Amino acid sequence: MPALATVPVLPTEPDAAVAVPNAAAPGKHARGWPCVACGANNAFESTACVTCGAGFLGGLGTAAGSGLRLPLVGDLSRLGRSARLCLATAVGLFGSLALSGLLILVGKVF
Ligand SMILES: [Zn+2]
Repeated sequence: MPALATVPVLPTEPDAAVAVPNAAAPGKHARGWPCVACGANNAFESTACVTCGAGFLGGLGTAAGSGLRLPLVGDLSRLGRSARLCLATAVGLFGSLALSGLLILVGKVF
């Protein structure tokens, strides 16, 4: 009579001690991304909030007070795309001219 090999029986139910703690508590520690509009926690698979429908990071650039403010220009988020391009070009030209002037001045001193 051939000897039967004993096959180890694997548990089919997940062990409670090994379970992921985030799956048991869907509160503030649940995995996902928080909605910037309503604060609801959404799964990583969804691209829009299940509560309010806002997109991932939606409205972050248009929120009041979140824009960069410059002394002479004001809030940069109010400017259009072309105005921001002109401002960036002007700042770049001014910076390069100021650096060139500083280097010429340092060159005359030493
Ligand atoms: Zn939301």
